[in-house]
Amino acid sequence: MSLALPVLDEDGGGFEDWRWQLRHRITTKEEIGARLPLTDEESAGLDAAPGQFRVAVTPYYFSLIDREQPACPVRMQVIPRARELVNEPGDLVDPLGEDSHSPATGIFHRYPDRCLLLALDRCAIYCRHCNRRRLVGREESPITRSDLEQALDYIRRTPAIRDVLISGGDPLTLSTSRLEEIVAALRAIPHVEIVRIGSRVPVVLPMRVDDELCAMLKKYHPLYINTHFNHPKELTPRARAACEKLADAGIPLGNQTVLLRGVNSSARVLRKLFTELLRCRVRPYYLFQGDVAAGTSHLRTSVETGIALMQELRGYISGLAIPHLVIDTPGGMGKVAIGPDAVVARGPDKWTLRNYEGKLVDYPQPADKDATCAYDEIYFGA
Ligand SMILES: *Cc1c(COP(=O)(O)O)cnc(C)c1O
Repeated sequence: MSLALPVLDEDGGGFEDWRWQLRHRITTKEEIGARLPLTDEESAGLDAAPGQFRVAVTPYYFSLIDREQPACPVRMQVIPRARELVNEPGDLVDPLGEDSHSPATGIFHRYPDRCLLLALDRCAIYCRHCNRRRLVGREESPITRSDLEQALDYIRRTPAIRDVLISGGDPLTLSTSRLEEIVAALRAIPHVEIVRIGSRVPVVLPMRVDDELCAMLKKYHPLYINTHFNHPKELTPRARAACEKLADAGIPLGNQTVLLRGVNSSARVLRKLFTELLRCRVRPYYLFQGDVAAGTSHLRTSVETGIALMQELRGYISGLAIPHLVIDTPGGMGKVAIGPDAVVARGPDKWTLRNYEGKLVDYPQPADKDATCAYDEIYFGA
């Protein structure tokens, strides 16, 4: 079976044109079924999708699917299965309590010094594990100018905010000029020290990372981008080039992986993913246990699995390649870092630790436990 993707079409552009990719997203059961043999589960998932949850895949990302293998990690992230209709006890429509932490439309302010700004609700693809399904399930729309103005006003009058994360939806699916309006407005706020953009574009629409975008972004440093690779199969030459380009524009890159059952819940896959990301100058930042978003329980692993996988990373691969395993706790209680417990015994004179090979080792403690820094008062002022 062939993908039968036109290289050029009547409305201009082609495979290498990011707007063409967005215009030609594959969204229906008919379009998907014409390109690969659907399983019964996928077929039922796609039948249920209209009105329930969004389905869209860029032709580029679709081309990475193994059409003979339902267990393909790319396929499992974009083609819904009937199990998306199943809710388990504890599943939530708004798993992170974002709606109750919103002081202005498009703002989620949960931590003292940083907030999220949701700039739009469109993504290039819709991930089956999305924790903002409730937002992206509606008509696609950017935040209105008046909502954006009010969101910026909230940041302007909240001097404690020194770090703003532009998220969504995917901010890099905005036009460069529209995105620049938002980034420039944030940069004009004196207390906003850093700007971060969260985007899956390098993974699912890498041709969007063009010279125009990079030239614009580099005017607004310090600007960070966190992207979202979940499997080494996604690190194609195009995706790698997109990361390189952003890094060449001086943008520090991080990656947030979601631990997904059957997709990347394997130590081999995570080691490969994280070490390959480093080669593209992308620093693994977070590995998330799945959020309790309704309809995603079939993609979640147990906490024990997450911790066991971390145990198989530490010591074996570069520390730089190791993300923090976190649970973004239900109801907006924030992110909690978890991991294998290396502490075997703790005492005033020594702690006993377990190294990555399972060997025990003592760390002797100083007799004097006073940790005061005498220079602090001089440096910071009394
Ligand atoms: C994750 C998150 C942040 C950023 O957290 P970091 O740990 O600083 O990356 C900020 N605000 C909200 C609401 C978040 O969910």
